Amino acid sequence: MQARLLETRELAPGVRHFEFDLPGIDRFGFVPGQFMSMTAGIHGDEITRAYSIASPPEGNRFALCLNEVEGGRFSPHLFSLVPGDQVTCQGPYGAFIFRRPISDSILVATGTGIAPFRSMLFDRLPQEPERRFTLIFGVRYEHALLYREDWEALARQYPNFDFRPTLTRPAPNWAGAQGRVQGHVLEALGDRRDMDIYICGLKEMVNDVRALLKEKGVDRKRIIYERYD
Ligand SMILES: Cc1cc2nc3c(=O)[nH]c(=O)nc-3n(C[C@H](O)[C@H](O)[C@H](O)COP(=O)(O)OP(=O)(O)OC[C@H]3O[C@@H](n4cnc5c(N)ncnc54)[C@H](O)[C@@H]3O)c2cc1C
Repeated sequence: MQARLLETRELAPGVRHFEFDLPGIDRFGFVPGQFMSMTAGIHGDEITRAYSIASPPEGNRFALCLNEVEGGRFSPHLFSLVPGDQVTCQGPYGAFIFRRPISDSILVATGTGIAPFRSMLFDRLPQEPERRFTLIFGVRYEHALLYREDWEALARQYPNFDFRPTLTRPAPNWAGAQGRVQGHVLEALGDRRDMDIYICGLKEMVNDVRALLKEKGVDRKRIIYERYD
C-alpha cells in the first residue's frame, strides 16, 4: 500500500504528529493499538520500521506520532517527507490491543509510547462508561507531554478516565507528579490484582515495569506490552 502524507504538526521538539491517507482505499480497518510497517529505500538499502497508529479508525486515514531519532536510519527519512509525498506501508499488525472483556486498566507510556493509547482511548472511552482507565504518562519535561490537550479534554469529558502525567525533570512551578512512571504504576494498582496493565515505550522502561508488577504478584496475562526497541 502507499500512504500519502497529508500534514504534520510539531508536538514537542523532535516529535511530530503525521496524518496520512491511503489513496484508492475507502475504509482502513484496524484495531486500535495496532501498528503500521513503513518501508523505504535509504542509501541503497530497503529499510522497514514499525509505527503505532496514533488515531482511532476513521475512513482511509491514520496518524502516527514520530520521534526523530538522532543518527537513526529511518525516522529522519520520515521527517523529510512533505505533504503529498507517498511512503510504502503494510499493515495493520500487532496484538497490543485491549483484551476482551475489557477490565479496569492502567496504561503506562513514556515518550512516543503514548501513540497507541491515543488510538485505544479515543476509540474505547465512549463505549466503556463502566470501566476505569488510568493513563500514566512519563516524560522528562512538561513541554514533552505529547497530546496533553487531548488527555485533559478526555479527562473532563469522561469521569472514568484519569490522566496522570509525571515529569523526571520538572520546572520548579510544576505541581503534578514527579519521577519515573514505575512508582506511579504501583500507586495506581494499590491492592488490586484484577486490572489489566498496558505498557508501551522503550524496552528499559517496559521491562522495569513488568518486573515490578510481577514482584507484586500481578498475573503475567494481565501485563500487555509493546517494546519499541
Ligand atoms: C511495534 C512498534 C511500534 C513502534 N511505534 C513507534 C511510534 O509510534 N513512534 C516512534 O517514534 N517509534 C516507534 N517505534 C520505533 C520505530 O520502529 C523505530 O525503531 C524508530 O523510528 C527508530 O528507527 P531509526 O531507523 O530512525 O533508528 P535506528 O537506526 O534503528 O536506531 C535505533 C535507535 O533508536 C532508538 N529508538 C527507537 N524508537 C525510538 C523512539 N520512539 N524514541 C526514541 N528512541 C527510539 C533505539 O533505542 C535505538 O537506540 C516502534 C517500534 C515497534 C517495534
